This record gives sequence, C-alpha cells and structure tokens, in this order.
Amino acid sequence: MIIDIPENSDFSIHNIPFGIFSTADRSPRAGVAVGDQILDLTAVAELDVFDFNTAVFEKEVLNDFISLGKDITKQVRKNIQYWLQDDNSILADKPELFVKQSDAQMHMPVYVGDYTDFYSSIEHATNVGKMFRDPENALLPNWKHIPVGYHGRASSIVVSGQPIHRPKGQTIPNDSKQPIFGPSQRVDFELEMGFITGKNTHLGDTVSTADAEDYIFGLVLFNDWSARDIQKWEYVPLGPFLAKNFASHISPWIVTLEALEPFKVPGPKQEPEVLPYLKYNGDKNYDINLEVSIAPEGSEAQTVCHSNFKYMYWNMAQQLAHHTVNGCNINIGDLYGSGTISGKDEDSYGSMLELAWMGTKPLKMKDGSERKFILDGDTVTMRGYAEKDGKRVGFGEVTAKVLPAK
Ligand code: CA
Repeated sequence: MIIDIPENSDFSIHNIPFGIFSTADRSPRAGVAVGDQILDLTAVAELDVFDFNTAVFEKEVLNDFISLGKDITKQVRKNIQYWLQDDNSILADKPELFVKQSDAQMHMPVYVGDYTDFYSSIEHATNVGKMFRDPENALLPNWKHIPVGYHGRASSIVVSGQPIHRPKGQTIPNDSKQPIFGPSQRVDFELEMGFITGKNTHLGDTVSTADAEDYIFGLVLFNDWSARDIQKWEYVPLGPFLAKNFASHISPWIVTLEALEPFKVPGPKQEPEVLPYLKYNGDKNYDINLEVSIAPEGSEAQTVCHSNFKYMYWNMAQQLAHHTVNGCNINIGDLYGSGTISGKDEDSYGSMLELAWMGTKPLKMKDGSERKFILDGDTVTMRGYAEKDGKRVGFGEVTAKVLPAK
C-alpha cells in the first residue's frame, strides 16, 4: 500500500469517494479520500496517466467529471485502487500527491441544480401520521402506491461544517387563530441519505427501475433541517416551504454506487403490490449504518439515534422511476433526499420530532440538560458506514452548529 490507511477508516481502499477540497495555498479542486489523506487528482493528472481531458479535476465542482460517464469514472476509481495497492506504481514515492484531510477545507462536491426530497421510510411516515393526524390511519391512502416527494430548494444546500442560523418565521401558538413572528422554537434535524444523479435525460424521457443505477453517480449523508412549528402552520395545502428551505447539509465525499455494491440487501416486502413501472428485480436496498449525535455548546457529543438506510420502504430505483415517469427530465448533480430514515425501535428514529415524540419525551443529555428540539449552540453530527467481510465503506460525517437567529 502506497500510504497507511488506519484500520476502521471510512475511506478504505474499497471506497475511493470523490470530493472537492482546497488548501491554504490553492483553490478548490477534485480529490479522493484515502484514510486520513486526500489524493489530489489534479496532481495525479500531471503524471499524464488519464486519457481524457483532466481539466475536469480543476473545476470547483465535480459535475464535469461526472458527465464523462460511468465508463470513465469507474475506471478512474479502479485505477486509483490499483495504484494505491501497488508499491511500485506511478503513485510511489510521491508524497506531494497527498494532502492531509486536516489541512484541507471541503466544499460542495457538485453544483446542485434541482433538489427533490422523498418521504420513503414507512416508520417515519407512520410516526408523523400518528402525531399529526390519526393514530389508527397513520399512513395516507397514497403512501404505499407512490414514493411521495416534493420539490425542495437547491440554493440552500450547503456542505458539512458550515454553521447555520436558527430560522425565523410565522408560527401559530396553541389555541390561537393569530400567527406570531419570531425565531423557530422547534428546529429539528432529519437523518437522510441523498443520491446524486450522474446522467441527464431529455424532457419526456423516463428511467426504468432496471436502468436507474446507470443514472445514479453516488450517495452522501444528508441533514434536512426542519422547523416544525413553521411547518405546522404553513404546510396546508401545498406542503413544505420555509420550514425546510433555510438549510440542508450534505457530507463532502460522494461515495459511488460501485463502492456500495457489496452492501446491497433486500428491501421490505411491498404490500399491496405496486404498479408495474415501480416493480424491480434484485436487491435495491443498502445496509448502511447511520447515527446522529448532538453536542451541546461546550459539552461532549452524545449519540441520540442509530438507524440504517436498509429500512427504506421505497428504494432509489423506484424513486427515480417515479420521478421521471411523467417525462420530468433530470440533470447531472441533482440531489434526491431519501426522507427521514427511521427504524422500528424508539432509538432508531431519525428526527427529534420522533425521538422526543413531539416534545412529550425529552431526551436527557449528559450535561444535565434536556432536548425536545435543537437548541442554539448545539452541533448535530451524522455518520454513516457500511461494513461486511472486513470491508468498510463510509461517508465520514455531516456536521453543523446551530447559531442564534440573525
Ligand atoms: Ca426531509
């Protein structure tokens, strides 16, 4: 091995995720994460080892690299895996090709033109239905027939590490008909994963579940911040708006679909039977361990949730098939959120709304405080990794601090 990769690193030789980084002396460029280092792809390109225009690595986002197509991006990942494992390869004795992750700043990996958020965890949808509607009929009649989703806002998607301000907005006090304006009192996280499309379609085209994987470049962790009190007042009848678009964070490294291939697992049985265009063959769920921690200001982080991406009722192939079935076109770099990923157990719920059950079961923090929702000064961190047969492929983390309202 050309460099030491710490045991249990998310960024093992089996991963090779792509991202955009900068250093104190140089502007953003493309790299891959390896252990606690970044392999600078612009520096590798200078060795004249790639047979495509490597100007794509000098760009501030990966869209142009991704647009080269999977034949090329897969080969780049394979070559890097091969070179890193061969002590006599072109990467040998060239420490200048590597940058310590601790010396680099990470940036948005892609330009996100469009962003859609699904609502595909049956446990999450059931919990929300129980709290806000009818415990006996928690799921709405369409839920098991349609991968329900809405169009979100791409402009406020930011990369891990960037602090956000508590949003202000209209809320409705209990037993009042008159709304008030002020900082949200119910800021929440949503534990999600997002996939990034790697291939365009034309208006009118559809993508089948069988072809969907050709259109998915890779995945990131996704924290879809939500203001529950604003949401409660505004969402009728057209759905989420300002409660959702004040910020969403993504993890900086895009883990490719190829790296996640060994971790495919069957999804939950879908009953009643779905319409033909939503049927699929093979395993389309992924066994990815997920966790969320909260660190109050000046205090240590405390894990509040353990979940798993494999719980998703609707898989990514079905989401993309549904999204395009009407001819809606997709572009490279578009982001698709899974929806909050909750499991069956109470400690596997992917939002404070569910973990503290609308504030009725506050979480006890190690510093003696309680949490119903996220407080100013709290840092929320999500991590995710897949592991099987000694192979670990992880996402690192998506983390952000909530500052007081501006
Ligand atoms: Ca969401």
